[in-house]
Amino acid sequence: MRPGRTLILCALCALPPAARAAAPAPAPGLHLGWLDRKADPARDFFTFANGGWQRQNPIPPAYARWGTFSVLQRRNQEAIRRILEEAARDGRAPAGSDARKVGDFYASGMDEKAVDAAGVEPLRPELARIAAVADPAGLREEIAHLQQIGVDAPFGFGQMQDFKDSTRVIGAASQGGLGLPDRDYYLRQGAKFRQVRQAYLRHVAAMFALLGDARATAAAEARTVMDVETRLARASMPRADQRKPENVYHPMDLKALEGVTPGFSWAAYFADVGHPEITSINLAMPDFFKAMNADLSAVPLAAWRTYLRWHLLHAFAPYLSRPFVDEAFRLTRALTGARKLLPRWQRVVGAEDQALGFAVGKLYVERRFPPSSREAVLRILHDIRAALKEDLAGLAWMSPATRTAALAKLDRMDERIGYPDRWRDYSALRVDRGPWVLNVLRANEFLQRRELAKIGKPVDRDEWQMTPQTVNAYYDPSMNDINFPAGILQPPFFDPAAPAAVNYGAIGFVMGHEITHGFDDQGARFDGSGDLLPEPGWWTAADYAKFEAATACISDRFSRFTVAGGLHVQGKLVTGEATADLGGLTLAWRAFHASPAYRSAGDVGGFTPDQQFFLGAAHVWASNVRPEEARRLVTIDPHPPAVDRVNGTVANMPAFQEAFHVPAGSPMVNADRCVIW
Ligand SMILES: [Zn+2]
Repeated sequence: MRPGRTLILCALCALPPAARAAAPAPAPGLHLGWLDRKADPARDFFTFANGGWQRQNPIPPAYARWGTFSVLQRRNQEAIRRILEEAARDGRAPAGSDARKVGDFYASGMDEKAVDAAGVEPLRPELARIAAVADPAGLREEIAHLQQIGVDAPFGFGQMQDFKDSTRVIGAASQGGLGLPDRDYYLRQGAKFRQVRQAYLRHVAAMFALLGDARATAAAEARTVMDVETRLARASMPRADQRKPENVYHPMDLKALEGVTPGFSWAAYFADVGHPEITSINLAMPDFFKAMNADLSAVPLAAWRTYLRWHLLHAFAPYLSRPFVDEAFRLTRALTGARKLLPRWQRVVGAEDQALGFAVGKLYVERRFPPSSREAVLRILHDIRAALKEDLAGLAWMSPATRTAALAKLDRMDERIGYPDRWRDYSALRVDRGPWVLNVLRANEFLQRRELAKIGKPVDRDEWQMTPQTVNAYYDPSMNDINFPAGILQPPFFDPAAPAAVNYGAIGFVMGHEITHGFDDQGARFDGSGDLLPEPGWWTAADYAKFEAATACISDRFSRFTVAGGLHVQGKLVTGEATADLGGLTLAWRAFHASPAYRSAGDVGGFTPDQQFFLGAAHVWASNVRPEEARRLVTIDPHPPAVDRVNGTVANMPAFQEAFHVPAGSPMVNADRCVIW
């Protein structure tokens, strides 16, 4: 619901002499071994910076893509595995304590013999509930029940900060209910999408067969599922359209809600989910719900039962016995190209991260996040904030009125490093030693209850959306805060031993990126307190028009890039992230130049401080990706592909062109330069 969420012929002559040195000198923190010195930084900086890494790091069979983020994430998972194994072995923690829950969850997941012996039996009561649906009211109740246990079909229901009053938490219903990643997978022509649809039909049929249905029946059921989901897909709003906050903000009272869906009683539904007191929500995509309302009567009840039975399986198959796990992986393989299932321990750690992420996170930071890290990264963060402040103060195209408002927004931006001040209370969650799937189910239920309990209450500003062990960061426009979990504050993003240039290029870039989200195509619409304002908001009309032209420049530029198979990057979908990359790298570079560290910086491995900075930035995106995954990401991911995040960004930066002596007319120079800050 939140809008914010989740770098030729004359190859070497453009390089400064020192960079031609053949043998990389040891340089802690600057990864010279990652370079491809045969590539020309002036033509393809991504490959120059990361070509060596790409060759040395083929994608492991169990992964769809593999990069800097995945390497660090796996290292984090290994650390967490040791913590969980210890907790599972110990067993002395008092019943009901977090330590006991964390250990029991892990033990239940690792008990493969018990999981396999149980088969689908633990889900029988849920299957029986679906089979018993006999009328439209029963269907509504079952939809509500399934959402409570983590099955968002045919729509999702949760909470959000009211876009227009960020002090309030409201309920929100949004489109959902698709087993494939996006509406495009149902609706787009082209051999690749058709192949995935065929694989999906086979997969759904195989799942029903595992439940014991005869082959012909299972195949017919799969077609029913495809039919229902294709209807939902047609009614779904494309992702790029969802970026405009007004498009997904339609607060409605009960009367208005029931005007959209006369066949679906929201009052009864709110009672079904345990909140009869709710009298208004944001119906994010009214057209979707209009279509769902029609489908509720047009599609026979038996087809809805089949559809819900499928979604129950789809949600829980990964936690059932081996045949279900293998079949679930077959779909993953068709969608992402991954060749092998992840080892069991990694799947259990992943599930536990969802279920008990903050209890795990508490143990993680106790062992892995020294207070000294917090201080060092805060210094860089404050330099970058100062760079933006100075930049805003001197920005020629911005009028004084907009400038004052922008500075006020920046001043009010909260920063949070590492982990939450207050830990999540898991006392209402029951965890035992098995069956594993029921631990997962109860955790889903616990989390959903917790979400819905927030509706109508004041916003909890201490809560984090990412667990401390997450290798990522985020900006939240309704909170106007930037968040850097402990998980990302490690090499190669932040390395106390690395040259300052590399740290500013890597973690500085990430920080500048998150700050810039406050001023990207979405962030610019929200004010310093997190409220959405009608356009042009806190901007003067003239300044806002200039800002829109700047983001349109980025969107047009990125629309030209393609991935495997020729699919185009959706410029409008990636505008926010690409804007944040350009703003973020620009700010990090300025912050580096303004820092005392810059004055004492020297060459490392033959690279000037500015070159080290850009190499550090490019190394953040070192990665390989399978073609299936590249197509999936370009369809659903608001982030541009890694190569474009590097090359598409530096091509707009004169500082880069100077650092690497890039001649005019090179692919690393965008002749119609896009400028944000
Ligand atoms: Zn971002």
